[in-house]
Amino acid sequence: MSTRLALFFFPALLLSQTQTLKVTLLGTAGPSLAFDRAEAGTLVQAGGETLLFDCGRGVPERLNQIGAGAVSKIFLTHLHSDHTQGLPILWMGQWNGRGSNPFSVWGPGTGPDQPAGVAELGSMLSAAYATNTHIRRDLVEKWNAAAIVFEAHVVSEGVVYQSNGVTVTAFLVAHDPVAPAFGYRIDYAGHSVAISGDTRPSDNLVKFSQGVEVLVHEVFNAAVGSTSATAAYHSVPEQAAGIFTRVAPKLAVYSHLAPAAFDPTARTRAAGYNGALLVASDLTTISIGGKVSVASCDASVTPAISAVTNASYGQTLAAGGTLVVWGSGFSAGGGNDLQFRKGGLTATTQGPAITVGETSGGYFWDLSATQMNAALPASIAAGQWTVTARNACGVASSAFDIAVQ
Ligand SMILES: [Zn+2]
Ligand SMILES: [Zn+2]
Repeated sequence: MSTRLALFFFPALLLSQTQTLKVTLLGTAGPSLAFDRAEAGTLVQAGGETLLFDCGRGVPERLNQIGAGAVSKIFLTHLHSDHTQGLPILWMGQWNGRGSNPFSVWGPGTGPDQPAGVAELGSMLSAAYATNTHIRRDLVEKWNAAAIVFEAHVVSEGVVYQSNGVTVTAFLVAHDPVAPAFGYRIDYAGHSVAISGDTRPSDNLVKFSQGVEVLVHEVFNAAVGSTSATAAYHSVPEQAAGIFTRVAPKLAVYSHLAPAAFDPTARTRAAGYNGALLVASDLTTISIGGKVSVASCDASVTPAISAVTNASYGQTLAAGGTLVVWGSGFSAGGGNDLQFRKGGLTATTQGPAITVGETSGGYFWDLSATQMNAALPASIAAGQWTVTARNACGVASSAFDIAVQ
């Protein structure tokens, strides 16, 4: 390859790595108290934006599990409890993480059978938590007043948010008598995902989802032609299959499984959808960049490091040498990484994280649940360090102390 070609390709490679739309299925159940599936919640990260779509029971805990940091922008598809009841936990629980950013929530307004829209939800939650807010804001902790403001944005169909190259478009879906109810499409750098919210088969969803690479759709376990009133405002697998066929995304994803424990795959295939199909589990991560790639993890497993040796399995760890990190719960299909922080566990301050993984360059091998091998980059000089192992879904181990010589 000539120098000129190399110069041409290098920025293209950088672009493909950075201009990625990352979708994390935080909660994948409809109404449910199941421990293995949280209720509705999907995180979209792109261009430095971190946007949460719905916040059911368990979603704030899943956010914390992957170290996503504070979220201050939330988009509600509709106001059923399985999409909203994690809100006060996120709102109060991340108060200090938001700096002075308000808790901004986009969602539907009122309707004929919808006495409270997102503005009423915000004002009534604010009233319900007035004691907590007053004491922590004004009397004891003196936490930031701006960060506890519940800022409601009533959405209507069309573009509802644009920042850093990320565009969020709301579209009406068919979940009446819950109305208005919305799905959302997110576009960034030529990449796109649509999230159905709760809906029976919706022509409007098909229209707004044209050309999306990933479609996340709800599914409800009832027989075709069921007369159940609940089934009537959801989509059974055969109906979702029809929507997937019409939209033809690169990847069709089921989330919001209702009830939580059922697999709609066989019925979707029998109904004729033959494109790529994924039944999401909690923490399933989809990266939409040059291609669409998926990582799935057992959300109940936290990685752990038990020992760190050199490549000869000895104790001496040399700068520039290769480390072998031993433990459990690593993603056996790859996609893990290691984070090094200067200082060691007993230091009063630790340096910023240096991440070593498949995309950081240099030797890295992680195709086992119990072992990772990594060449130490030059930035990790002799001294005390901690190392943390993260699996392919971003769940981190406790920090482990090492001495580099
Ligand atoms: Zn729901
Ligand atoms: Zn619903």
